[in-house]
Amino acid sequence: MMRIAPRLTLQMGLFLCFLQITVIASANKGYEITKSCRNNIRMLNEALKKYVEENPNAEIPHNEIVQYKQMFTMILTKKYIPDAPVLPTLDCGYNLIYKGPGNFRWFCSLHGTDTGDMRLTFPYHEYEFTAYFEKSYMTISKYQKHYDDIMRWTAYTRTLRESITYHYSRNPTTTIGIVVVGVLFVLFVARSLFW
Ligand SMILES: [Zn+2]
Repeated sequence: MMRIAPRLTLQMGLFLCFLQITVIASANKGYEITKSCRNNIRMLNEALKKYVEENPNAEIPHNEIVQYKQMFTMILTKKYIPDAPVLPTLDCGYNLIYKGPGNFRWFCSLHGTDTGDMRLTFPYHEYEFTAYFEKSYMTISKYQKHYDDIMRWTAYTRTLRESITYHYSRNPTTTIGIVVVGVLFVLFVARSLFW
């Protein structure tokens, strides 16, 4: 048992170093993802506001969900959106809900609106996101579906790596303790079986 101690210590040390780097990177990344998505939504809200001010008689589908692509091609164009929004995750995507010139909101398929009177916090891989919703739009069936789609994420089960990364970013000491005990246990079992 004493003979493998240095090797074990080295392995544990390397593992914890790797964990630390991964976690710090992903904790910042989670924050950055949410921030850039909300910035995209604000930019889209501003662009449409400007368009509506300059084109008060514009015909925009009411009480419908309109996808970004359609709004961009038919209405906004590069004049109002010179730089297309970059999607922060594979599941992000922008849609518009329009009830009138002073009552519209862009929302992301994953992060919802930039602010709202309803919220939902859910696991997304190694991150935790909060999406916002507007209660008054729930009467529109496609918006209700958008809420239901995000609701599905609440049942998401993280992989072991995602789980360790997530818990470490919230409570490093306890997570390291649990991981160390777990790794020691696995090494102990492996040693008694194979060595
Ligand atoms: Zn998003």
